[in-house]
Amino acid sequence: MPNVAFVNGVFVPLAEARVSIEDRGFQFGDGVYEVIRTYKGRPFSLDAHLARLDRSATALDLTQPYSRVDWTRHVLEGIERAAYPESKIYLQITRGVAPRDHAYADDAMPTVVMTVREFHPLDRSVQATGVDAMTTEDIRWGRCDIKSVNLLANVLARQKVKRDRVFEAILVNAGLVTEGAISNVMVVQRGTVVTAPEGARILSGVTRGIVLDLARHMGFPAQERFVSQAELYEADEVFLTGTTVEVLAVVRIDGKVIGDGRPGLITQRLAAGLTSLVG
Ligand code: PLP
Repeated sequence: MPNVAFVNGVFVPLAEARVSIEDRGFQFGDGVYEVIRTYKGRPFSLDAHLARLDRSATALDLTQPYSRVDWTRHVLEGIERAAYPESKIYLQITRGVAPRDHAYADDAMPTVVMTVREFHPLDRSVQATGVDAMTTEDIRWGRCDIKSVNLLANVLARQKVKRDRVFEAILVNAGLVTEGAISNVMVVQRGTVVTAPEGARILSGVTRGIVLDLARHMGFPAQERFVSQAELYEADEVFLTGTTVEVLAVVRIDGKVIGDGRPGLITQRLAAGLTSLVG
């Protein structure tokens, strides 16, 4: 079955999946989500994604309808039904259907949706050359640690990415680099890997955590602190981390060349390290 959908416990073809126009996800962006990919048909770091889904739901006082065991069963069934070589799984929980009112009822019944689509990894040539990025002001709300479906600021940033034909928008808040619109951002300064600290200003990426562990294991010091936009331009290496981008070198930002304009050695080592973890 191509493009599988799952709505409130029932698998249906994607084209037949429906939710109400009074769903609070639709009217208020009142919900949370996760994106997971498979390697060799198996979901990668599913437990970490489900743990973050729990954290996001709890932060919004949203009732998590399924246990991690239930979710794991549904995700595995979705992957099996879709039967793609590699899948991208999208999970979403919203506060459910109710007459429009900003405040919510304590007994709201959440709407749960999952889709499973074919995942096409980035072309290896993109990894070999690295990508261009741009900076843009981080205009997001004060709880970026919650993976909420309220993504307007990210939508606007990604539209600029499309307009300027670059790969990613690096978000800058009061002169400090927070993260990408769909990724975390890391820089290398004299052999040290530096990335924004966990907290309300960034999404704690699953890949970010794995890559920081990898760096430390490989003997590269890693620091969790904000870098300024000036430090970003002057870094020896810059790279993105994320479920879909993995470890991806950024070789130009706002037209300025980073390092020698090629993926740096530490970026390459970490990319290879991640590949060997998933393989
Ligand atoms: N930051 C933002 C804003 C994201 O949307 C994402 C992924 O979608 C990430 C970081 C990377 O998170 P992960 O590594 O869990 O995919």
